[in-house]
Amino acid sequence: MSIPMLREFTTRTSIAYFSMEIALAYDIPTYSGGLGVLAGDTLRSAADLALPILGITLVSRAGYFLQKIDEQGRQSESPDMWEPSSRAEQVNAKVAVEIERRTVWVGAWLYRIKGQGGAEVPVLLLDTDLPENQLDDREITHFLYGKDAAYRLKQEIVLGVGGMRMLQALGFHVRKHHLNEGHSAFLALELLNNLEYRKQDLHAGESPYDVPRVRSQSIFTTHTPVEAGQDQFDYGLVERIADGEFMDMDEVRKLAGEGSLNMTRLALNLSDYVNGVAKKHAEVSQKMFPEYEVHAITNGVHPDTWTSEQFAALYDNYFPGWRHEPELLVRVDQLPNQAIWDAHTNAKQKLLDRIKETSGQALDPTIPILGFARRMTAYKRPDLLFTDLQSLRSLHREHPFQLVMAGKAHPNDEGGKYLIEQLHQHMRELANEVAVVYLPGYDMKLALEMVSGVDVWLNTPLRPLEASGTSGMKAAFNGVPSLSVLDGWWLEGCIEGVTGWAVGTSEIRSDIDDANDLYNKLGKVVLPLYYEDRAGWIAVMKDAISKNASVFNTHRMIRRYATEAYMF
Ligand SMILES: *Cc1c(COP(=O)(O)O)cnc(C)c1O
Repeated sequence: MSIPMLREFTTRTSIAYFSMEIALAYDIPTYSGGLGVLAGDTLRSAADLALPILGITLVSRAGYFLQKIDEQGRQSESPDMWEPSSRAEQVNAKVAVEIERRTVWVGAWLYRIKGQGGAEVPVLLLDTDLPENQLDDREITHFLYGKDAAYRLKQEIVLGVGGMRMLQALGFHVRKHHLNEGHSAFLALELLNNLEYRKQDLHAGESPYDVPRVRSQSIFTTHTPVEAGQDQFDYGLVERIADGEFMDMDEVRKLAGEGSLNMTRLALNLSDYVNGVAKKHAEVSQKMFPEYEVHAITNGVHPDTWTSEQFAALYDNYFPGWRHEPELLVRVDQLPNQAIWDAHTNAKQKLLDRIKETSGQALDPTIPILGFARRMTAYKRPDLLFTDLQSLRSLHREHPFQLVMAGKAHPNDEGGKYLIEQLHQHMRELANEVAVVYLPGYDMKLALEMVSGVDVWLNTPLRPLEASGTSGMKAAFNGVPSLSVLDGWWLEGCIEGVTGWAVGTSEIRSDIDDANDLYNKLGKVVLPLYYEDRAGWIAVMKDAISKNASVFNTHRMIRRYATEAYMF
């Protein structure tokens, strides 16, 4: 099949990047958090660098969800509908997959990511909402991470199997498939099943499946440092739903685990190149999977996407070309302090305006703001700062500060929802003393406003569960230093007192110890520097940019994938 609007891409594309979520734009709700933002940033960098990559994901017409939070801090969710035809072009093709022994048709939309130099990266958004499908099946690509295990399994069949068939139907001949997390691992089964890949002239008892050939075409990036966090399906469910699609289940069990179908195992067994998302995460993954070699290409963020207009104007002025070559930011120490401070003050005012507008609260621009926003879930410990309200109050009396928070809890994560309620409880307890704001609807737009508008970016995860973390990298592009637990990327990015500050050590410690260290660092180091040594503070802002933004970006990351994984 030849589709005119794809012709410019079909001959050129050699890498297909599969991801359950891709953040294409802040107002296209096909992402839930870090994984999707990373996928979007990766493809935006690929477009800037004119790399021959294509992205493939689900259209997620109902998005992740819209978050509402009531006075008590109770989260409620509603669908976040978007209309693909308003932002993407319909592709005139459809392919079939077998689900519950029914034919399910899969269509696609083309979204174009435009790079700084004019190159484009195509993204295919798979869609089962077609009139030829029965009602249930039309919903398979509606809700990102929605519903139950059966629904997720169907989505993963559409992504992996449907995605591969769509590429073939459209005439793509890709050399490498990049699995961004295990959700898309069925694509490797689809390759294995491909008759062209079957081995000929078998010896007695030899398997016809050419595992080494499939492995040589797959790259897997793992994002979860715990077994419990990995996608697993009960084989009973798999047999009920995917029976018509998968080859003999004995082979699948060999590749995906005997007890249940583990998507991480499957991806590991069918990929030659396996990557963790930070050095520490690669070490932890290596211990979990000693039989595989785990590489470490640390995550990054997309320079242009994550730089506020205030700092972008500054960089344009001093370092033209920084969007293509963010390494130029190593020279930021040459900038006048006042220019840095003014850009920051303007970005801070923009955040304050937004807060006034959405919550009615007026924060004080002369008082430092601590920012904390991420997925609300237990291991991120958003409540760590509130461990001892008395300590927090006395800290505030000595050196006033304000706090801005945001984050969604997954609809099925009761613990995460409870954390949001608790945070609101603390806000009521601290009312009239410490200004604390919780902004609903954390998305990319709010993320940029926060990482550029606060003075310190906080992160307090439970070690070693923060595989990488990327919001602190976004802060670095805006001269906002991190105060963070030494886990994930911060083990590589933190130079104590230079690019920011550590909470505790790299060793696992109790919540109480971490909380005390957090209070100590804030009260004895961070806040005094802010109030008493403005030049010293600006020096830290500059080093956050020059030493971290220049390195922890997706330009560097995708170039490393290109030279270390894609090329071979
Ligand atoms: C960057 C980002 C994340 C991920 O941040 P972490 O620090 O990795 O938790 C999540 N959600 C949104 C909207 C983001 O922009």
